[in-house]
Amino acid sequence: MAKPSFSTPLGMVDILPEETPSWRALEQIIHEEAAKFNFQEIRTPILEPTELIRRGVGQLTDIVTKEIFAFKKGDTHYVLRPELTAPVVRSFVQHHLDQRGGVQKLYYIGPMFRAERPQKGRQRQFHQFGLEVIGSADPIADIETIAFMMRIYERIGIKNFTLKLNSVGDPESRERYKNVLKEYLEPHRAQLSELSQQRLDKNPMRILDSKEPEDQEFITKAPIIQDFLNEESSLHFEQVKNGLNTLGISYILDPYLVRGMDYYTRTAFELSSPDLGSQDALAGGGRYDLLVEEIGGKPTPAVGFAAGMERLLIACEELNISLTDPTKLDVYVVSLGNAARQWALGCLPTLRAHGLSASMDYSGRSMKAQMKEANRELARFTLIAGEQELQDEQFVLRDMEQSTETKGSLDELVSLLTKPLS
Ligand code: AMP
Repeated sequence: MAKPSFSTPLGMVDILPEETPSWRALEQIIHEEAAKFNFQEIRTPILEPTELIRRGVGQLTDIVTKEIFAFKKGDTHYVLRPELTAPVVRSFVQHHLDQRGGVQKLYYIGPMFRAERPQKGRQRQFHQFGLEVIGSADPIADIETIAFMMRIYERIGIKNFTLKLNSVGDPESRERYKNVLKEYLEPHRAQLSELSQQRLDKNPMRILDSKEPEDQEFITKAPIIQDFLNEESSLHFEQVKNGLNTLGISYILDPYLVRGMDYYTRTAFELSSPDLGSQDALAGGGRYDLLVEEIGGKPTPAVGFAAGMERLLIACEELNISLTDPTKLDVYVVSLGNAARQWALGCLPTLRAHGLSASMDYSGRSMKAQMKEANRELARFTLIAGEQELQDEQFVLRDMEQSTETKGSLDELVSLLTKPLS
């Protein structure tokens, strides 16, 4: 009987060796920029209690109703985390991070899981980086959050994007708006999509998020939330806009950009790229002043964003942006004969101890095959030893790009290799 063949689960991919350098470079950029903003990294488990995600993401969201990977072990229900805001807030509450004083400025990088229909830019396991600033209601926190997000794309060289900005107000403003929106939509109930009809009763603001064609006509003519913001929320929004202007970050106002859950407040934003096709959202975020309390903490204002890493890398590919130099091996040690092979093996730790990357043949191949392998590995140098070289303790260092050779003892050649470029 034929052996079964296995592949990755639907919508999940292997990140292959030729791809990992770009991932590492991106992660490095995120760590470096986060350090410049004085944000600290947080890492939380891949599994979280189902109830946390229900509360933190919202019962009526697609994520919770359709996309969660869930399972039960013993009496406990778990999910594979679909996002990290709720888990980070859980960690904040669990470890009393508020007692450390000041504002917690936390960033993360890691895999998320959503059982969506896979397509380009949409996977079931994907990666996000993001930020949660917990403990500040100040517009400066919103502005710095957006500035950090923009800085990553700017540093990478992705410039062609749209930043949409809105304010969803505070609960008081939103209550007024919800009623007006409901009154406006109610006469059209029968013409709305099925999902929007359900939302009309439970959470009319989420209708503004609908992508269903039959809803669009009603969305574009709907009353806008700005007309219902109270003075405090209006002022906060003005300050956020002013701050972005000060930093030279351009945005467009989109009154229909909503975060429908009740714990989202004030600032909402989304970054999209025309280079991405149908899955064009690069990142999104906003303020969630009521979430910490929802998850069992004291009332604590907060703001954050999450960005898709696969989509960022797809945009790089579309724009021919390379995040890495082609990997180069410093030295490939080429040897002929058993004794030289032993010498080559002993040579590797010496080279590596001097900070050089070093490799050799693992298959007992001919010298010619080893030289070919060195080329394939893009080695900058080969260090060559046969019987004669071993006897004389004089080895050959070949510069693969220049095609030049130097003879010398191992010490001499290592110091040549480690000498700073003049
Ligand atoms: P969200 O948490 O839904 O606001 O998503 C934030 C960002 O994560 C989006 O703007 C996308 O860039 C990315 N993202 C969300 N879902 C997926 C997915 N299924 N596959 C790939 N990237 C995703």
